Amino acid sequence: MWRMVGAPTTGEDATDGAEDDGAEQAAAFATPGTTRPSLARRLARGLVDRLLPPCCPLCRSLTADGGALCAACWSTIRFIERPYCERLGTPFPFDLGEGTLSAGAIADPPAYDRARAVARFEGAGRDLVHMLKYDDHVELARLMAPMMVRAGRDLLAGRPLLLPVPLHPTRLWRRRFNQSALLAREIARLSALPCDTGLLRRTRRTPRQVGLDRKGRADNVRGAFALAKPERLRGRDVLLVDDVLTTGATVEAATRTLRRAGAARVDVLVFARVVGDGAS
Ligand SMILES: [Zn+2]
Repeated sequence: MWRMVGAPTTGEDATDGAEDDGAEQAAAFATPGTTRPSLARRLARGLVDRLLPPCCPLCRSLTADGGALCAACWSTIRFIERPYCERLGTPFPFDLGEGTLSAGAIADPPAYDRARAVARFEGAGRDLVHMLKYDDHVELARLMAPMMVRAGRDLLAGRPLLLPVPLHPTRLWRRRFNQSALLAREIARLSALPCDTGLLRRTRRTPRQVGLDRKGRADNVRGAFALAKPERLRGRDVLLVDDVLTTGATVEAATRTLRRAGAARVDVLVFARVVGDGAS
């Protein structure tokens, strides 16, 4: 199986790691004034990519077009299509009629209004998330964002303000970029919508979510967000953008912060989400 360079090797659950990091994101790149040490690396990679024949960014097999997945990798993406729960975006095994909500959405409604994801967090859907985040393949945002625009078309139709889930500044400094902000900026560009990468902030570094149950995760991220200029949120529709959604504890906490500032609608758009046990 394909392995990522730079992926967590400590044996931690990748899903948990993803949520944790997804939970700790701000500006697309380290704050103004700091250097972007990966720039040279990215430029070099771009040059090499230009010189070599086009290949799949995941498995490196040759492809007809640069920047596209090969057929084999593409076939492992499990896209989430309707029918799904109109609130949570979790797929239904069969069509229950338009506007149907899942039992989970009724019993335990989320703080946000609607969530949508391109694919399940498995196969190439998971590999793309990991490669963007851990392996510094920032160019993948250009491949992933159009898929998110398609999956989130209903949410984008309301012309919301796009806000990436921020990283805590120390994590941003270490990683040098916020993958969710890269995705949000690209989605905003494609949709001609406003995007603010500095409005929602991470105020507290939270321990990794590994080993925490749903309640533990919720407690872990409670009060971890703040707004730079809360008055900008009053009455506005917001779309939170993240790379991956597992239990939803992170976006729940972020949503509550936005609601307190008077945001009208808060939707969530991610590239991949966990479906099944522990997901909601
Ligand atoms: Zn491939």
